[in-house]
Formats: sequence, structure tokens, C-alpha cells
Amino acid sequence: MTYPRLLVHTGRILENAREVVARTTAAGIDVAGVTKGMCADPEIARAMLQGGCRCLADSRVSNLRRLRQAGIEAPLMLLRIPMISELPSLIEYADSTLVSMPETVFALEAACSAVKKSIGVLVMVDTGDLREGLWPDEMGVMGKALSGCRWVHPIGVGTNLGCFAGILPTEDNMGLLLASAAKLSAELPSPVEIVSGGGTSSLLLVEENRMPRGINQLRIGEAILLGRDVTRSRTIPYLHQDTMVLEAELIEVRGKPTTPIGMIGADAFGNVPHFEDRGNRLRAIAAIGRQDVRPEGLVPLEEGIHILGASSDHLTLDVEECPEKPRVGDLVSFSMDYGAMLSLATSCYVEKIHE
Ligand SMILES: *Cc1c(COP(=O)(O)O)cnc(C)c1O
Repeated sequence: MTYPRLLVHTGRILENAREVVARTTAAGIDVAGVTKGMCADPEIARAMLQGGCRCLADSRVSNLRRLRQAGIEAPLMLLRIPMISELPSLIEYADSTLVSMPETVFALEAACSAVKKSIGVLVMVDTGDLREGLWPDEMGVMGKALSGCRWVHPIGVGTNLGCFAGILPTEDNMGLLLASAAKLSAELPSPVEIVSGGGTSSLLLVEENRMPRGINQLRIGEAILLGRDVTRSRTIPYLHQDTMVLEAELIEVRGKPTTPIGMIGADAFGNVPHFEDRGNRLRAIAAIGRQDVRPEGLVPLEEGIHILGASSDHLTLDVEECPEKPRVGDLVSFSMDYGAMLSLATSCYVEKIHE
């Protein structure tokens, strides 16, 4: 065994996908399974497809390549508006991509034409979260750009919410998206098919039967992977949250004072730390650090363990209140939020195991 390791209960992820798909299907909505939170792990991608996701979406072309090279044949979508410099590999691995800039559309058309391969584009509309997307009143310009394309096919419109500014999906911003779809379609020979109404944060509208008719796709990552919706700080009651566990090994267990000794400068990341004096307490160091994980997103699963802080390679724990005194070589387990999962998935020092 090597540690740290991330134990993934793929069967629970499959069940999450099934539950999400059951609810969205009833509302006339397809699910694109979003794999980026786990670096497009092929086993997880397969679980998403088996659970009923119609296609897979990821923000990195290299992750799409990973899926294709693993033999996955489902349609793949790039979930980030592409860099001009990555268009050749985008065309090689993706069936569709998000776009928001007419100049990128022109470059994409040229790149597609060079290899005689077509690609679908989902035009992103900014409905208020201020990340990617055209303003709804710019749809005409994009429609004209797309009408001149032969290899680039407009497949729909989409919006992203809850990511930059934390704006929640509502009937209002979904309505704006539907109106934008109509405006784009008016510029094209035939109406666009997909109206993609966001990610996990849009699920609540579906659950409450408030999703406007016409929204026919959601791009779901967090709900399937972790059973949570961070934008509404909720666990989703019909989904599993215990889909993955981080295990790290203790390399030191020793009583130490709670205030450091000596003159305080900045810590390894440039922050000036502050300490409250709580006397001598038992502490432990787990062999994992900021190179592997965003420690703020970890929650210890054993009783009496509290995270004190982390440097690049050391996670410092207060273990004074553990019912049984931990020892060097013991494992400690953690559940995690999306940010911690993302960092663990990306770290090459963390072994990934499927159960
Ligand atoms: C990451 C991402 C999603 C998925 O979001 P979740 O909250 O994980 O469901 C959807 N759309 C875009 C554009 C994304 O970047």
C-alpha cells in the first residue's frame, strides 16, 4: 500500500448518476457527466455513462484525450472556451466545445477545415455570474459568425452560474438563456437543439419543479461525484456523500505547546499565523500537504481529530481528544469538498484506488 491514497467508491458514484438522471429525465433534461473534478478518471467516466449520462464533459483537452485513449466512445465536450493554441488537439478529441468569442469561432472553422473534420459549438451566454459568455444582446453577431461556417456547427446555448460570483440559477436567468437561444436560432438556418442550463446548482430548480420548459441539458459534476451542492451549502438528500475517502499516514505523534516558541515571521506560504494558547496538547503530523490537497476542504472522519494547518508536505492535526491515542504508522481518514477532491485528483503523489 502507498499513502496518501484516495479510495473511490465508484459504485456509489454510479448510483448518484442514476438518481440525478432519473430526476432530470422526468423534466425532459439530459445530463452531461462532468469528469474534471477527478481528472477524467475513466472508471468514474464509465460509471457516469452507465448511470445514464448522455455525454461527458471536461474543461481540459488533455482529460478528453485520456477518456478517448481509455476507449470511451461517448460524445465528449470541452467545458471551457478553448485556447486558440489548442484547437488542433481539441478537434482531434472533442465532439463539441463551448465558445464565446467570434474570433475563436473563425479560428476553429479554419482549423477544422484544414483537417476536414466538423465540431459542434455551444454558445455561452453570460446571464449574470460574470465568468465566460456573450451578453444576451450579442447573440446576433455570434449567429452571423456561425452562419458563415461550414465545419463548425452551432448545437446550442449554455450558461454558467455559481462559479465566479456565486449567482444562483433562477427562473429569471434561465428565461434569459431561453430568450438568447431564440435570438441565436433566428440568425441560423435551423434552431439550436441544446439549451444547457448550468451545473449542479441548477438541480434544485428541477427538484422543485421550477425549471422552465425548454432547458434540456445540465452539466453535472459535483452532485454525481460528491452528492453535494456547494453553491447552496447543501448535501443532496437523495445522493451518496460517502463516495470517496482520503487516507493519510501519521509520521509523528507528540505532545507540543499550542503557541510556537520564538519570533513569528511568515509561514511557508507568506501568511503570518496567529495562535491561541491552549496549553500542551497531543498533535500528529500526517504525510500529506498543500502539494496534494487544499486542506481547508478536508473533514477528519475519526472523532477528536482537528486540522491545525498544513505546509507543502505536512498536515498538522490536534489529536488530544481522540478516544484512542494515535500512533505513528496509523492512518487517518478524511472526507472532502470539491476543491479538496480536485487537488487530490491532480496530485501525482496521491494514489487513486477504486473500490
Ligand atoms: C465545472 C463545470 C460544470 C460542472 O459543475 P458542477 O457544479 O460540478 O456540477 C458545468 N459547466 C461548466 C462550464 C463547468 O466549468
